[in-house]
Amino acid sequence: TALFVHKFDTPFYKGTVTINTGLFINGCWVDPVDKATIDIVNPTTGKVITSVAAGSSKDVDIAVEAAKKAFKTTWGLKCPGNIRGKLLSKLAELMEAQRDEFVSLEALDVGKPWHKANTKDVEISIMNIRYFAGWADKIHGQTIETNENKLAYTRHEPYGVVGQIIPWNFPLMMLTMKCAPALATGNVIVLKPSEITPLTALKFAGLVNEAGFPPGVINIINGYGNTVGEAISHHPLIDKISFTGSTLVGRKILKASAESNLKDVTLELGGKSPTIIFDDADLDQAIKWAAQGIFGNMGQICMAGSRIYVQEGIYEEFLARFTEVAEVLGTAAGDPFAPGTEHGPQASQIQFDRVMAYIDSGKKDGAKVQVGGERHGQEGYFIQPTVFTDCKPEMKMMKEEIFGPVAAVGKFKTEEEVIDIANATMYGLGCNIFTENISRGLRVAHQLEAGSAWVNFAQVASCAVPFGGYKQSGIGRELGQNAIDTYTQVKGVHVNIGLKL
Ligand code: NAD
Repeated sequence: TALFVHKFDTPFYKGTVTINTGLFINGCWVDPVDKATIDIVNPTTGKVITSVAAGSSKDVDIAVEAAKKAFKTTWGLKCPGNIRGKLLSKLAELMEAQRDEFVSLEALDVGKPWHKANTKDVEISIMNIRYFAGWADKIHGQTIETNENKLAYTRHEPYGVVGQIIPWNFPLMMLTMKCAPALATGNVIVLKPSEITPLTALKFAGLVNEAGFPPGVINIINGYGNTVGEAISHHPLIDKISFTGSTLVGRKILKASAESNLKDVTLELGGKSPTIIFDDADLDQAIKWAAQGIFGNMGQICMAGSRIYVQEGIYEEFLARFTEVAEVLGTAAGDPFAPGTEHGPQASQIQFDRVMAYIDSGKKDGAKVQVGGERHGQEGYFIQPTVFTDCKPEMKMMKEEIFGPVAAVGKFKTEEEVIDIANATMYGLGCNIFTENISRGLRVAHQLEAGSAWVNFAQVASCAVPFGGYKQSGIGRELGQNAIDTYTQVKGVHVNIGLKL
């Protein structure tokens, strides 16, 4: 298999990172059966960084077989929880020791400003692993009172081989969010990173043997959705699939399960989340959080607060100041490795084109651009932070997920009205509410149809709190104790302690 060796000589990190670009199957680096590769592009420049292996269904078959064997012999019920936890902790330790390498690869591959990749992506990724390492030996069933002749209890057992498919917006964070709870609960995994951003997954795979995981427990197969992804979702020996990505592909995953072996399905999908600002809000804070809520990670956040509704009394002031924040952020666009950069490129050409098409559709449909609305610079996939007003609910840009730095700001009068507008979407991932009246904040949070609600901030998730979507934003929950439930199936055991025939 080929190596990718990259020398970073940046203000944040100086050093050489080496990763294997093959498939990681059964504890070994291997070439794909078909020897195919994918070019990986630097979104800051549009130039190819390297190429990595592209698997196919044949490689998925090999990985599933190895995983199944590991589940039966060295993992699953054969490996006690405290040992699983210890290995996960060791993995977190190794990641921590090579933290700057992970951060630099993520910044290179996705275009995230380095300091954000450091304090958000990699920080949270390591936290995810530590959090679920702690759960590994705390997975308990119940004993259940029935009658004096029976002992009944439950066991929370792993599924076996779990397929995991992740997107490109938070590559390492998504990977750890999925594989840590699956491994903690005794499952073995076959994971497909996004074909756009596989570099940190490869770096991660490079630590698996050193951490002490038996071969076959963690398998990482790069490749396209319509090859490796389809093979995973249709595979008859994969017992559970967890997918994060678009609602469009989420439907395909559910269909593939129905058409194959009815594998259990967890879906974390898209969103069109509202940010609601009441006229008694702390306006300074609301403006900053609302901006972070839609422009953070260049708008490539599933729970991005893309629809901002402001109560009429403060609308003009909010709009003027929010527009200014967007403008200032636009001046801090640039190389993710330069100090002072706060806004990077979109992650790929496809994504750049998609976001620009939404901006154009907004303009054509009569929405008004307050600021931005154009590409930034001539090189790479940069888009200016953009603020629209005069948006109508029926506009394409208001109905569909844009997944870019594009905010739509509108006005509302009453609490009842804004709850209706906010809920008028097929999505239900997140919502952000700003008010100094905490009763109102909680009342509105409870009425909004979303899997997560933030009162007086936006999107600060925690690995201990369940996360997932209402409506067409997903099925099931990840993170927190719910992730332990997500990755286990419950068996009721009935023991006869006295009933005679
Ligand atoms: P995507 O759905 O295009 O791709 C996601 C993954 O699915 C990729 O690995 C891709 O290769 C794979 N895939 C594509 N076609 C497939 C198929 N037919 N079968 C199996 N796998 C297939 O999404 P994306 O563009 O990578 O990511 C952006 C989307 O992800 C947005 O909609 C965003 O909201 C969503 N997202 C959701 C969450 C969440 O937690 N709810 C988090 C991050 C991103």
